[in-house]
Amino acid sequence: MAIVNDAPAILILGARSLATARRIQAALIGAEVYGLASRVEGADIPFNEFGETLRALYETGRPIIALCAAGIIIRSLSPLLQNKRAEPPVLAVAEDGSAVVPLLGGLSGVNVLAREIGEVLGTAPAITTTGEIRFGTCLINPPEGYVLRNPADGKTFIADLLAGAKMRVEGEAPWFADAKLPIDDGGTLTARITHQDVAPAAGELLFHPRNIVIGIGRGFPDLTDQIRRALGQMQLSIHSLALLMAREDDFADPYIAATAAELGLPLRFATARSAEDLALAAVPSPILSVTIEQLAIAVAETPEDITVAGRKRGRLAVVGLGPGEAAMMVPAVRREIDQAQDILGYETYVKMAGPLRPEQVIHASDNREELARARHAFELAASGRSVVIVSSGDPGIFAMAAAVMEALDDSDKPEWYGVELIVLPGVSAAMAAAARIGAPLGHDFCVISLSDNLKPWATILDRLRHAAEGDFAMAFYNPISKARPWQLGEALDLMRQYRAPETLVVLGRDVGRPREQVSHTTLGELNADMVDSRTVVIVGSSLTRAIAKPDGSAWIYTPRWYGTKPS
Ligand code: SAH
Repeated sequence: MAIVNDAPAILILGARSLATARRIQAALIGAEVYGLASRVEGADIPFNEFGETLRALYETGRPIIALCAAGIIIRSLSPLLQNKRAEPPVLAVAEDGSAVVPLLGGLSGVNVLAREIGEVLGTAPAITTTGEIRFGTCLINPPEGYVLRNPADGKTFIADLLAGAKMRVEGEAPWFADAKLPIDDGGTLTARITHQDVAPAAGELLFHPRNIVIGIGRGFPDLTDQIRRALGQMQLSIHSLALLMAREDDFADPYIAATAAELGLPLRFATARSAEDLALAAVPSPILSVTIEQLAIAVAETPEDITVAGRKRGRLAVVGLGPGEAAMMVPAVRREIDQAQDILGYETYVKMAGPLRPEQVIHASDNREELARARHAFELAASGRSVVIVSSGDPGIFAMAAAVMEALDDSDKPEWYGVELIVLPGVSAAMAAAARIGAPLGHDFCVISLSDNLKPWATILDRLRHAAEGDFAMAFYNPISKARPWQLGEALDLMRQYRAPETLVVLGRDVGRPREQVSHTTLGELNADMVDSRTVVIVGSSLTRAIAKPDGSAWIYTPRWYGTKPS
C-alpha cells in the first residue's frame, strides 16, 4: 500500500531563514525543513538543487512553503503547472516572516494553510481569491467531514454570487454560519447538503456530509461491490461514507483491508460481534440504521456525531536504511519512517534513520537483542500502532527481517498475525562497496557471514570451501570483531588454498558514512589487521580484474563472461 506524505515541506535557501522556518514547522504536524546544503547547516533534510527539489516535492503532492521570492518558485514550477486539480498548496513566505503569499493550490487548502502560517508569524496572509475575501469562506473547499461533489461547477457558482446572485441552503452546512454568504430562501442558486445519492442540479453545489458508517460482519471477495449495492438500495451516497468498522477477529482479512483502501476510508476494528453492533459502536444514536446481508449501515445526524471507536490495524515495517548516507536510502523507506509512531533498532542505526519528529517514540537497544526487539515490535503493532524496525543495509541480509519472521513463526498469538507486516529493502554493504570501486560482483557471487554466533564455525568453513571450489566471488560480512578475533585469519588461509595470491580483494569500510574507505589489495597481501567490524571484504573470483585509473587507483571488476572472453 502506498503511503502518502502530506506533511508540509519548508524550503530555505539561507541560514537566516532557519529561525522563521522552525517557527512555521512547530505549528504544522510532520513538517520538515529542507535546507540548501551549501548555505544551511542544521536543516532536517539537505538539498543541492532548489528547482529540482521543489519540482520533486510538488509532483509527490507535498504542501510546499518556500522562504524565498515568489518569482523563483513560479519560474521553477512553471513546467508543471498544467493540471489545476492535482495541485498541492504552494506558498511563498518572506525570509523574516513578514509576508505570507499563497500561490497555488486553491482547491487543496492553500488559503487555510496561509492563515495558519500567518497566525504563527503574526502577519495577515495575502489572500487574493476574490470569492473567499468577499464571502469569508472558500465554497469549493468545505471543512473536514464534508465533500463537494461537483467542484468543477464552483467557479461559475462563485462568479454568479459575486455578480449579485443569492443562494438557498438545503440541508445543514454549519460552516456557513461563520461566513458572509448572500443566503436567501428565494435565491436562484442552491447549496445542497445531503447524504442522499442525488445528482447535482444546474446552479447547485452539492455537498455530502461524511456521516455514514458501515459495519462489516465478515469479509468476502466482492465486498466493495456489496457496499456499493447496499448504499444504492438505500439511495445513500458513497461520498458520505466516513468509516468502516470490522470485527477484531478480522484484523488480517485481506478483503476488508483492500475495500478500505479502494474506497479511501479509515478502517477500525472493534470487539462487537454483529455488523449492526459494529456500526452502532461508531454511531451511537443513528438517524437511520439498516442491515443488509453482512453489512450494517448507520447514518449519523452530522459528521461530528461519529465516534471513532475501536482500533486501527497495526503496521510493522522492517526497513533497510542502506549503508549510511541519506541518498542511498530508498524513498519508500524514508516515507515509512516518516509516518511511523515507533522506531526500534540498534542505537547507531536509529540515529541513521533521522531526522525524526519529537512525538515519534524511539526504542533503541543493544545490537544482540534481535528476537526480543522483534517481539516488542509485534506487541506495539498489535496494539494498533505503526511501527518501524530499522536495519543497516538491507533488512533481509544478516539483519532484522529474518529475526522478525522467526518471532512470528514461533508465536501463536493471533493478534500478531493480524498485523500488517511489510519488509522494505535497502542497499546492502556489499552492493554499496562494489559500486564504489566498479563491479567486483559482476558475475555469480556468494554472500557469507563470518560470524559464528548463530552457526558453527565448521559450517562456515565448509561453505567457504564450496564457494571457493565453485570460483564464486565472495562478500564477507561480519568479518571480525573483538569477540571473534581469529576467524577471519582462518578463513583467509582456506581461501589461499584455492585462489592465487594475486586474486583481487576489495575492502569497503564505513561505506556511505563520513569515514568511508574503499580500497583494494590482493589475497597474498591481505591480513586480518586491515579489516575491522565495519568492513565488508570482497574476495574476487579467478577472473576478477583491475583497470588502472590515471590517478593511480583502479577499477575492479568481474567480467560477465566465463572461461574465455567471447569475441
Ligand atoms: N544488513 C546489513 C548487514 C548487517 S551485518 C547490510 O545489508 O549491509 C553487519 C556487517 O555488514 C558488518 O560487520 C560489515 O561487514 C557490513 N557492513 C554493514 N554496513 C557497512 C558499511 N556501511 N560499510 C561497510 N561494511 C558494512
